[in-house]
Amino acid sequence: MPASGWLRSLKPASQAFIDGDMDCLAPLDYPFLNQGQVCEQVECLSGHLGRLGLEHRRAVIGYSLYTRQLEAVQERTGKAFCAGNCGRPPVGCCNAAHYRVHSLADFMIGRPSGLAMQLAASIEGLQRSEDAWSRHEGLTHTSDHCAYLAERGCTLLLFKSPRCIHYICPHLEADLLLRFPGAAPAYAAAMSVAAVSTSLRSADFTSPEVLAAACLMLPGIPGA
Ligand code: SF4
Ligand code: SF4
Repeated sequence: MPASGWLRSLKPASQAFIDGDMDCLAPLDYPFLNQGQVCEQVECLSGHLGRLGLEHRRAVIGYSLYTRQLEAVQERTGKAFCAGNCGRPPVGCCNAAHYRVHSLADFMIGRPSGLAMQLAASIEGLQRSEDAWSRHEGLTHTSDHCAYLAERGCTLLLFKSPRCIHYICPHLEADLLLRFPGAAPAYAAAMSVAAVSTSLRSADFTSPEVLAAACLMLPGIPGA
């Protein structure tokens, strides 16, 4: 489901920081997004999150720009395989509450930073908004699996957890290695590391190594 509809549905809390957020975030490199997508996303989220502090707000927007790129990569590399060849039907890897960013053990042992906890809380709040919008658009939840799994896929758009967006199973990894023998090993390795990393700092939520490897896997792919 396109993210643009949800972004446009968000109520602005403040327009005061949109220009500054745009100046800071829009010029960065987004190899799998076009300029229109970046600007729309920054504008809508900056307005909606206008009551958050600057560092917190930009971390949330930056995370969403990262996940949208990873979705674009997966659209071109893995989604068709998952739809037609999953070895774990009918729900694939959406068999539990993987949408949560932190587990109890992360809090007890790892002690996430203040910004990491703020980012996690915002991600989980925006997940609820995305889910409500997707259901309004006609998706229907399944039962007994992940709370955000619908009959036609995930109801989340830009705010899947780091664990969700980075997970690839051995079956999909083997397929990637066959189709992209030069670049897939580095991509799969970076995804695996990111999928199991505990998001203790805000930088842990995303992986530059994943995007760098994806660029080698999909050379010359313009923004989606
Ligand atoms: S990553 Fe693997 S388990 Fe998950 S949906 Fe794709 S094929 Fe199925
Ligand atoms: S949040 Fe979405 S992708 Fe993640 S486990 Fe649930 S249904 Fe699957």
